[in-house]
Amino acid sequence: HVKAKNKNDYRFYTPEFDKETIWLAEIEEKMRQGLPRKEFVLYFQPIIDSSSHTVTYFEALCRWHNDDAIDIMPDIFIPIAEQSGLIGSLTTQLLHQACSFIKELDESNIRISFNISATHLQSQDFMSEIKAVFDKENVVPSCFIFEITETVLMQNWKRNVSLLNDLKLLGVEIAVDDFGTGYSSLGYLKRFPVDILKIDREFIRDLHHDAKNRIFVSAIVSMASALSLRIVAEGVENKEQASILAEMNCFLQQGYYYSKPLPILKVLRHLNSNSLHSNVIQLK
Ligand code: C2E
Ligand code: MG
Ligand code: MG
Ligand code: MG
Repeated sequence: HVKAKNKNDYRFYTPEFDKETIWLAEIEEKMRQGLPRKEFVLYFQPIIDSSSHTVTYFEALCRWHNDDAIDIMPDIFIPIAEQSGLIGSLTTQLLHQACSFIKELDESNIRISFNISATHLQSQDFMSEIKAVFDKENVVPSCFIFEITETVLMQNWKRNVSLLNDLKLLGVEIAVDDFGTGYSSLGYLKRFPVDILKIDREFIRDLHHDAKNRIFVSAIVSMASALSLRIVAEGVENKEQASILAEMNCFLQQGYYYSKPLPILKVLRHLNSNSLHSNVIQLK
């Protein structure tokens, strides 16, 4: 919407541009108010081992519950939190929630995959903020996997390599989120201490119709296994996709076919009705 080619250049102000700016500013203000009111809550989506139909761990995904009942999804409000400097406090609050969840699941040894945003990772205080939460909650960091998108890893990669090494020393595992959509070279996988690749749902969506996607996914699965990386398929929505993936030896799967992200109480109810102690949840 805005063009500024050089100093003397013009800008286009359209009514739409104004509307959008105002809308974004309003959301930012609502987020500022909503944070201390604890309006941001984590939902949990299981990641299934389709070979045994058990839950291996959960991804934590943020939802915004507010009085205005405005249904704004993280794709919108996370970037706003990043631009407005709220991401640090939002993430800390969510990490506390994730720790409480882990403590409630005490005996089941279930781990949480937690999304880390680009700008937060780059911020000076990142490590100290994260460590402070683990200390305060008295939760071992090895209960966590941090999900980071590949484009983010590539920016400032020297610093990121050392950051990730520090996280690994703490015991946190690292997953590359939305794998396949970002950086075009795979060389970085040698440099980064990565444990898991999450294949973006873009490649899963048409798996049963699109031979190219099948070739892509199958190549990624082979490479991952050669490099001893675990692989998770995102956005599995139907049986066809699930079985094609299983045939390719991609057993770790996440998506609406198994379960949507669930509020904490539903997860707990589900776990209690199954065998909590063995960490096995029968879903289908
Ligand atoms: P992501 O980390 O790649 O998360 C996966 C997204 O796919 C989630 O969207 C999830 O609800 C959705 N999804 C899962 N299974 C299916 C499926 O079968 N079909 C379809 N169509 N979608 C599926 P969500 O929750 O709206 O989150 C969007 C993105 O926002 C996330 O992408 C992540 O990048 C970011 N995000 C969400 N929660 C947080 C958070 O707590 N912190 C940070 N930094 N980012 C977050
Ligand atoms: Mg994620
Ligand atoms: Mg993803
Ligand atoms: Mg995504």
